[in-house]
Amino acid sequence: MTVKKTRIIFLGPPGSGKGTQAQLISKKFRIPHISTGEIFRKIISTNKPQKLASAIKKYVQNGLLVPDEIVFRALKSVLDTNGKFLLDGYPRNIKQAQLLDDYLGDNGIDIVIYFKVPDKEIIKRLTARRTCPKCGRVYNIYTLKPKKDNLCDVCNVKLIIRQDDKVTTVKKRLKIYKEDTMPLVEYYKKRNLLVEINANDTVDNVYNSVVKILEK
Ligand SMILES: [Zn+2]
Repeated sequence: MTVKKTRIIFLGPPGSGKGTQAQLISKKFRIPHISTGEIFRKIISTNKPQKLASAIKKYVQNGLLVPDEIVFRALKSVLDTNGKFLLDGYPRNIKQAQLLDDYLGDNGIDIVIYFKVPDKEIIKRLTARRTCPKCGRVYNIYTLKPKKDNLCDVCNVKLIIRQDDKVTTVKKRLKIYKEDTMPLVEYYKKRNLLVEINANDTVDNVYNSVVKILEK
């Protein structure tokens, strides 16, 4: 299976399902899935390249945002500028987009797909997680319910909502996302690279829309 567009960026808020779609598309069309979260985890766990690993650790372990230049260096360590790629989680702001454009030069991006989901739905999705305080097992009140209401299947302990999954935290994350990332929608629109899709749908339907766009 092949598609015409193979140098791809997926843009979308947390909870938009773009990570799931990136995995599906990457597997189906053999396009390397480049997720900045994954790159960080790999660099930190292997401690390679060492200089970059210690730089990233300093920020991540202190709960700080990794500066754009360092994120970009991490990206460059895995990106094949002449090959196919599917970027998921990069760029996160205009500065990162410009660094990427300068680096790719004339042989640039084929398409940017923006996964559009209403705020209400994102908040619903991201606050659906419940965690067992004893064994750490994770549930979802819509897609992975415990057998007994609000109790861990294994420990029979009352499930909790972690700080990250609380409405106020989710709203904060969404606000930061909008301030930093929404300008990218305009940035890529101006260059005729942006296609918006309705991501407030089933995984299958969203997948089919993505494939159609990549085939054009
Ligand atoms: Zn448990």
